[in-house]
Amino acid sequence: MSGSRLAYLQAMDIVVWRARPMSALQTPVVIPEQDAPAPVIKPSDDAWHALQSRVRECRACRLHEGRTQTVFGVGDPQAQWMVIGEGPGADEDQQGEPFVGKAGQLLNAMLAAIGLARSAVYIANIVKCRPPNNREPAADEVAACIGYLRAQINLIRPRLILCVGKVAANNLLGNDEAIGRMRGTVHRYQNIPTIVTYHPAYLLRSPLEKRKAWDDLKMARRVAQQGL
Ligand code: SF4
Repeated sequence: MSGSRLAYLQAMDIVVWRARPMSALQTPVVIPEQDAPAPVIKPSDDAWHALQSRVRECRACRLHEGRTQTVFGVGDPQAQWMVIGEGPGADEDQQGEPFVGKAGQLLNAMLAAIGLARSAVYIANIVKCRPPNNREPAADEVAACIGYLRAQINLIRPRLILCVGKVAANNLLGNDEAIGRMRGTVHRYQNIPTIVTYHPAYLLRSPLEKRKAWDDLKMARRVAQQGL
């Protein structure tokens, strides 16, 4: 195991048992590129750029009033994985990129632990502007904004969606379930397998739950590889 991968697993509080080198935990992960569906868009495609422009100019809900800038998303628009969170926080609002700061670093570690670089996935949020005081987005704000996320998903057509946190999962999947009830099940969003796990910001506050998040990530990896 490389030193960097070991460090990522340690960031996830995953104990590596060196006496079992063939365990699934230690098997190097290869996301089978050759099995990927044919890319449907390129970063330069008109539809993608038009969507970016619309979001940049959007004033469809009150959240535009307090934003520094919109946070469209980051990563590879031809990614096989999409990670979907709730909304920008203060760091994200300043930098214009989702999942930066400590929660972002943990998300990067989570992805790296299953062999995925941040740049190889696409990361976006339910709402594109920061809710004040880091509150949850209100229902009318989600209703105004979620069409942009749906359009992003339709353009990317990922092989797997990873929803991080209850707000992201409830709004994408259209339910009101607790996160504990959504974990461990393969959901479907427009027939795309969707896995739910904890938000990294929650994991920073509740590190004992990292073990469960690790289980979710392994499940997501398995689903993505097997195309369930
Ligand atoms: S949160 Fe979404 S709908 Fe509201 S102003 Fe920002 S981009 Fe527009």
